[in-house]
Amino acid sequence: MQGKITKGIAGFYYVHTEGNCVYECKAKGVFRLDGKKPLVGDNVELDVLDQEKLLGNIREILPRKSQLIRPEVANVDQALVIFSIVKPRPNFNLLDRFLIMMQQQEIPCIVCFNKSDIDEEEAGRGYLDIYGACGYRTLMVSARQNLGIEQLKELLSGKTTTVAGPSGVGKSSLINCLQSGVVMETGSISEKIQRGKHTTRHSELIAVEKNTYILDTPGFSSLGLFGLEKEELGAYYPEFAFYEQDCRFRGCSHISEPACGVKKAVEAGRISRLRYENYCLLYEELKNKKKDYQHAGR
Ligand code: GDP
Ligand code: ZN
Repeated sequence: MQGKITKGIAGFYYVHTEGNCVYECKAKGVFRLDGKKPLVGDNVELDVLDQEKLLGNIREILPRKSQLIRPEVANVDQALVIFSIVKPRPNFNLLDRFLIMMQQQEIPCIVCFNKSDIDEEEAGRGYLDIYGACGYRTLMVSARQNLGIEQLKELLSGKTTTVAGPSGVGKSSLINCLQSGVVMETGSISEKIQRGKHTTRHSELIAVEKNTYILDTPGFSSLGLFGLEKEELGAYYPEFAFYEQDCRFRGCSHISEPACGVKKAVEAGRISRLRYENYCLLYEELKNKKKDYQHAGR
């Protein structure tokens, strides 16, 4: 039988199968076989040990399409990042960091703004324009009033999506909306594990419809920039590419050089000032990180 690992705790793996059952599995022999550790998101071949108690053993990990590092999960097709329009207002610097992190891992992003029901100043539309102009899929929803949920479901359909956002933006509420109507039969989760469950927050895949999964990840309040040189940062602002051709200097950082095409586009309102200002902040941060590194004598 084939299935997908939705959760892994202390050597146990939970495998969701076509019949909408979740088997509690060990992975005896798999590691020895091909040296791979099973990951959440892996498609696997399993042997059913006890159909009554829904117990099984993972026999083989099927080839991976992709593997994310943060969070560590296999076969993710896309990321959905959620911010709220108000309460709290979006931290755009954090949003840009998230987009960079996903782009580094070559995962396309959907940018979703929640709480449209209390967006009295109608700020949401402007946010969609800013990120839409950078080439991201964007949408505005309200978990509370069930607005935009059908559109969101369409974007997720048939795919595995990692869902992230700072806490308080309504991520759990949205996931609840998406999950409505899904009933799963779950294997007898051993009591020990059940009790230990709340000590650590694990990423877990949730089946929302056939072949459609979402990965609920813990809320974040900060994100570091890893494996990135300041010279590379511009490449993570896709909307710069067109205007960079007008920069006088090759390798222009778009910070202090004269005759900079990107800065001109910002002045002309063709590139969002908000995005450009975040670029400058992140550039500065990467520059200083480099300095710290050199001071450390390495
Ligand atoms: P999480 O921390 O991102 O998982 O956010 P929650 O789902 O726990 O929601 C945080 C708060 O925002 C709760 O008080 C929710 O009732 C509220 N909330 C969530 N979605 C909406 C929404 O669409 N509109 C409004 N007005 N409030 C919402
Ligand atoms: Zn420039």
